[in-house]
Amino acid sequence: MNSVSNDSTVSNDKTVSGIGASPGIAIGPIKTIDQVDLELPEFDNPKEAVKQAMESVAANMGVLSGKAREAGREEAAEVLSAQALMADDPMLLDAIGAHLDDGGLNLGEALDAASAELQEMLASLSDPYLAARAADVGEVATAVRKNLAGVEAEGAEIAEPSVLIAEFLTAAETADLDPAMVLGFATEQGGPTGHVAIIARSLGVPAVVGVAGLLAAADGNTELGLDGSTGEIALDPDTATREDFASRNERIVQAQKLAAEALGTTATFAGREILVAANIGGSHDIDGAVEAQSDGVGLFRTEFLFLDTPEPPTEDQQFNAYKEAAERCDGQVVIRAFDIGGDKPAEFISLPEEENPFLGLRGVRIYEQFSDLFHTQVRAVLRAAKFGDIAFMIPMVATGDEFDWVAAQVAEVSAEMAEEDRGEIALGIMVEVPSIALTAGPMAERVDFFSIGTNDLTQYTMAADRTHGALGTYQDPLHPAVLKLCKATADGAATAGKKVSVCGEAAADPLAACVFAAIGIDKLSVTPSAVNLIKSTLSRQSSDFVDQVHKALNDAATAPEFRRIVESALLG
Ligand code: PEP
Ligand code: MG
Repeated sequence: MNSVSNDSTVSNDKTVSGIGASPGIAIGPIKTIDQVDLELPEFDNPKEAVKQAMESVAANMGVLSGKAREAGREEAAEVLSAQALMADDPMLLDAIGAHLDDGGLNLGEALDAASAELQEMLASLSDPYLAARAADVGEVATAVRKNLAGVEAEGAEIAEPSVLIAEFLTAAETADLDPAMVLGFATEQGGPTGHVAIIARSLGVPAVVGVAGLLAAADGNTELGLDGSTGEIALDPDTATREDFASRNERIVQAQKLAAEALGTTATFAGREILVAANIGGSHDIDGAVEAQSDGVGLFRTEFLFLDTPEPPTEDQQFNAYKEAAERCDGQVVIRAFDIGGDKPAEFISLPEEENPFLGLRGVRIYEQFSDLFHTQVRAVLRAAKFGDIAFMIPMVATGDEFDWVAAQVAEVSAEMAEEDRGEIALGIMVEVPSIALTAGPMAERVDFFSIGTNDLTQYTMAADRTHGALGTYQDPLHPAVLKLCKATADGAATAGKKVSVCGEAAADPLAACVFAAIGIDKLSVTPSAVNLIKSTLSRQSSDFVDQVHKALNDAATAPEFRRIVESALLG
């Protein structure tokens, strides 16, 4: 697991640390990207000037988005096209105009005031998706200011392959980096799920973000080494540190080589076949799953069809998305019913404000109230099942009654459809709530399969909100309590011959993946880029690792204790 911490600090004058944002090792000369002076000149017609600047920023971001898409960097393309749309949207322009009309503010001040106001408004909606839009507003405003100041968006000239350091980079600046010249970068601001991190990963450029005091610490140093997984940074590294970084790099290169060799194979773990499927968030991820030759799709998060849109997706829109996945991916496609609520609101699903949204109306708990939406999704899934092997999975199930209600609805919808219009589906549940893990034996008589969502199972086991910045250390799925619940699920499922997968993020961590296999999990579902790393790691292990896992489950009281016992048994 990455060491992710929000309170990263400068520990001494030679090492600093931040948040690993894009994996890989970089070592090389430091190139500092200074924040240029963005004083704006006087404009005869400030409104017209800012209008033109916004048009030019929108066009530039559109071009960068197109380039990213052509290079197959879909996530980067999406971030940039969202920012291009925002630059094109009159919202920011009108707000600047209103401040100029009020008088008293110059163009720079009006731009700052309008941007701050909009960011505050979006952030105050306490919705993570809109909070991300707030960051977009800030980045678009910065790009507009640079344009008005006559500063090139590309930033500094880089004469030799270097490691960049900066207070911050915008999404557009990151997308424009040349991976041949930028060995890696580190910034003072930013988080692991921010746009800059997403784009760095898509470029394959190692990066560390959120490094407090970086520029001051680096002052006077000429070389920098960074580890984009752990967030460690070494300034003017000595020989021992260089050797350490070089050997980490060696391990990464070796793991990549083994992963490439695993392409198209079936993973085996201590003599047992383990499927490794892909998690996808929509049609845009299907290419990645196909390229990785994953064993199907183990989690199709359908929320993307429901979020950021004023209207619910139609049956046909959903059918087309599910059919495309079924037709293009080899193996079963597990479609998850829309998991709205908690941290995922939808505009057209009006839920009450709640004190504890993760313990409130979420997932399966809202389907009865929004049964039209649920029935539409069931119809789309049943139609798509004519085109491939499709399973349907219900999130947040806590009781057998909830599953019985869902099963009855699926039967009812299916009975209403003409037989030739629908296919057969397996119907399973996610194990995210401890009550289900502990009743997996009797539940296995009802359901076709289980899939463990370790992200939620960990938060509900440890009583720690998964989005709470200060509670990161509780979110370790290798806590023995979480693993005992996973094992209880596997044991319960086996009594009725049912299969169990793990589709939470933990399955993409090689150590955790092997632990899950060792306690009886049949299938793992991971981000497409991790499929072959996980296949190759699983296939290298022996039964000694299984013995160590069982010993650790008995002996360890904490996640670090568990890790210490099993880590040394993992074959690299
Ligand atoms: C999980 O909880 O582990 C999971 C896969 O679901 P999500 O992260 O979408 O809540
Ligand atoms: Mg979940």
